[in-house]
Amino acid sequence: MIFADLGLSDELLAAVTDAGYTEPTPIQAAAIPSVLMMRDMIGIAQTGTGKTASFVLPMIDILAHGRSRARMPRSLILEPTRELAAQVAENFEKYGKNHKLSMALLIGGVSMGDQIKALEKGVDVLIATPGRLMDLFGRGNILLTGCSLLVIDEADRMLDMGFIPDIEEICTKLPANRQTLLFSATMPPPIKKLADKFLNNPKRIEV
Ligand code: AMP
Repeated sequence: MIFADLGLSDELLAAVTDAGYTEPTPIQAAAIPSVLMMRDMIGIAQTGTGKTASFVLPMIDILAHGRSRARMPRSLILEPTRELAAQVAENFEKYGKNHKLSMALLIGGVSMGDQIKALEKGVDVLIATPGRLMDLFGRGNILLTGCSLLVIDEADRMLDMGFIPDIEEICTKLPANRQTLLFSATMPPPIKKLADKFLNNPKRIEV
């Protein structure tokens, strides 16, 4: 399998080549075409399998071909920790360097002021930890009704950290007809329950 067979745009293929990748990892080969077809997905994969690119690459193409309504965020990536959120943001910038997409990193431990300014200007993608997202939402700084693509990454770690109630609440604030991708290294019963409740006929990919 080669990257050019997955349905990604030429701009993204260039970014992938610049990143030095010669062939997609198994999760990328299975996930990218399915995400581009707008299907929900459960990805059972560990860190180190290339799972970040498996959702960031198709997300960039989906965003590049759609149009924002009043600069509302159109995609949301939830991560359990600040460090993981920051890493995904770096990946988004690396793969998205040939696109004019904007992003806000909404994590704790840094002042809300800059995050609020970014939200006021309008962004395409939110990369967030659940706690800070809920804080900003509660203060009225975020509208999630335009978010038609949601990624719940590292779901089993979200469970360990007690974030499942926050995630359930966040899910109810997004449009019901959105696309949802859930990644987890394991599928304990509470994660399976979450997936049953919030994903629609997901493709299941296990690597
Ligand atoms: P992840 O599992 O998303 O944390 O990615 C693990 C590492 O693999 C990261 O350092 C990526 O830059 C790298 N990586 C992702 N996709 C590929 C690929 N197709 N070929 C080589 N390295 C990759």
